[in-house]
Amino acid sequence: MSEAVSLLKCVKMNDFSGIPGVEQLLQKSVIRTLISQFSRPLVISVVREELDTIRQEVRTGRSLPDEQEIISRIAATLSKLNDLTTKPVINATGVILHTNLGRAPLGSTAVQAIADCAGGYSSLEFDLANGSRRWRNTHLHELFRRYLNVEDSLVVNNNAAAVMLVLSALARRKNVVIARNQMVEIGGGFRIPEILAQSGAHLMEIGTTNRVNLDDYRAAVESGGALILHVHPSNFKITGFTEEPGLDEIARLAHEKGVPLVHDLGSGALLDTAIFGLAHEPTVQESLAAGADIVCFSGDKLLGGPQAGIILGKSRYLEKIKKFPLARIVRADKMLICGLEATILTYLKDQALLEVPVWKMIAARSTDLRLRVDQWIKEIGAGSAEASQSTVGGGSLPEEVLPTWVLSLIVKKPDMLARILRRQSPAVIPRIQEGKVLFDPRTVFTEQDEILVKMIIRSLKEYRQKYERTT
Ligand SMILES: *Cc1c(COP(=O)(O)O)cnc(C)c1O
Repeated sequence: MSEAVSLLKCVKMNDFSGIPGVEQLLQKSVIRTLISQFSRPLVISVVREELDTIRQEVRTGRSLPDEQEIISRIAATLSKLNDLTTKPVINATGVILHTNLGRAPLGSTAVQAIADCAGGYSSLEFDLANGSRRWRNTHLHELFRRYLNVEDSLVVNNNAAAVMLVLSALARRKNVVIARNQMVEIGGGFRIPEILAQSGAHLMEIGTTNRVNLDDYRAAVESGGALILHVHPSNFKITGFTEEPGLDEIARLAHEKGVPLVHDLGSGALLDTAIFGLAHEPTVQESLAAGADIVCFSGDKLLGGPQAGIILGKSRYLEKIKKFPLARIVRADKMLICGLEATILTYLKDQALLEVPVWKMIAARSTDLRLRVDQWIKEIGAGSAEASQSTVGGGSLPEEVLPTWVLSLIVKKPDMLARILRRQSPAVIPRIQEGKVLFDPRTVFTEQDEILVKMIIRSLKEYRQKYERTT
């Protein structure tokens, strides 16, 4: 376009006469093909949006694109629609329970169970033996009873909902005793004092930030405390001059006084993390054995199953909880139930260390991880192996690390390389530390090794072309 013409276009700002009409565009063969793929209403809405944008551009002095360009912009917008969905990524961060990346990946039996029940009808609330209706938690309860010997159970949508439901059902308009060192925020806006207020319970704080003793609990219960809430400080540590009675001592006091002890465990480990060199995360079994009347925990943290809130404990309290109207509002859906049943069954069969990805990742040995890193380096032809640390994440085991080996790439602009890696399909999410781009094999499934290497090679090539031409 000559300068004179573009100048003329500038002068004739707000002249929209050259912009094609919607109907005119809809007749074009490219657009007609798009209509057959994306539906007429969707294409029309994108066409209108694009024409609005162009009018806006013309108003600000930009030149009018020709029809061909308008059509290709419409096609590009439509083809990007698939980007609107949640997509699989390769987690090379070394954070096992990564909240932004969907927390626990499920084991293959759980995935299969969900696929089987999601795509068709199921016996969710139907008793196949006698053709009658049954409760949707029946099977899960039978699995929990066999595995943990609990009187009763209820599974809801997530653990935040579980805590809210338990407090609402058992302590509305009553006093809930909680130690000041447990007034936690677990992230995502879940703050214990706020949840308590929402549930209609009154807060009765005892002790100090670092110390609380059994007499504090006794005094609170004797002056009207109707429920003792114990919250596992899952994402932080208080060290130094601290004191806290054992859960068994609190339970004994609670039972002596006839008030329930509710334990929000957070992570809900069923296996001992200490076997793998981590700190000991309190297990569900220990909490029940100590005498907690109600125990709540997540399905998608250390349990390694689908998102869920699991409530276990004494029938006399669970009956009230199940009948409370909020229980219906936070009830578990069929996919959660199918996935959780398969996950718990894995534990019951003592196959969790082989089947549940979270535990396989925790159990992975650094010598084996090193071999994978060496293989990656060989195939990529760049980078070096470095000793590093993986974390469990997901608000559990704060400050605890697992020794690992990582592939380390040293580049001038690590953020740019990370951005290119995120644009791959599947996207690769590395860890950036001290100006290096690190890839931790602990959270990469072995069957992803090949595609990961391919994505890194491709990204490095693009990165070098754009940012480090000289090297
Ligand atoms: C994670 C956590 C929750 C919330 O569980 P979600 O399943 O994420 O809803 C509640 N309490 C504690 C102590 C936790 O660690």
